[in-house]
Amino acid sequence: MSQLGTLYIISAPSGAGKSSLISALLKEERSWDVKVSVSHTTRAARIGENHGEHYHFVDVDSFKSLIAENAFFEWAEVFGNYYGTSRITIEQALQKGTDIFLDIDWQGAQQVREMMPEAVGIFILPPNRNELEARLNKRGQDSSTIIAKRMAQAQSEMSHYNEYDYLIINDDFEVASKELAQIVAAQRSKQNKQSMLYQEMIAELLK
Ligand code: 5GP
Repeated sequence: MSQLGTLYIISAPSGAGKSSLISALLKEERSWDVKVSVSHTTRAARIGENHGEHYHFVDVDSFKSLIAENAFFEWAEVFGNYYGTSRITIEQALQKGTDIFLDIDWQGAQQVREMMPEAVGIFILPPNRNELEARLNKRGQDSSTIIAKRMAQAQSEMSHYNEYDYLIINDDFEVASKELAQIVAAQRSKQNKQSMLYQEMIAELLK
């Protein structure tokens, strides 16, 4: 697939601040054509989450039909629920030149890397386990049983950090936020991206 946009895979254990970092980037860099992919999931919506905005919330049967239709670019079972990325949305956006962020787990990341080795992987780590647990508690959206389960899963998710191109430690949010923006800025300045975007201008210069 020839593409103008860059695909970013961003993974982290729950509570590492992944969503906040992505939101901050979108807010700060409004002139960049960057979008976050809205996944499908079979998990129940949390308070404040809207269908079509945070996720497309679907039941298991609908999710399985979408798998059968090959509608997913990648999908995985995470914490007992299904999550998947819509293939058509991603392909159309990338072809249009839009950079896409996939907020997905390590299993999805492995599938994407296989299909699209040029995708840029970013892993976010919290500074320590205590801080991670505190952040999960503060969110107050999940029951203590779920939090305990997520802490147990965090270690397994974090063990995949070295499969990614970039690593951000989210201790100081401002610092981590800047690091994320720098990674995206550097990626956007790559010669092959610039050459595609400024084809006509460059041809004019070299006439
Ligand atoms: P949450 O339920 O907290 O929103 O997300 C749980 C985990 O599922 C997170 O690690 C998140 O990155 C991952 N996730 C969300 N959407 C997708 C997706 O479309 N595909 C995959 N593989 N993982 C996803």
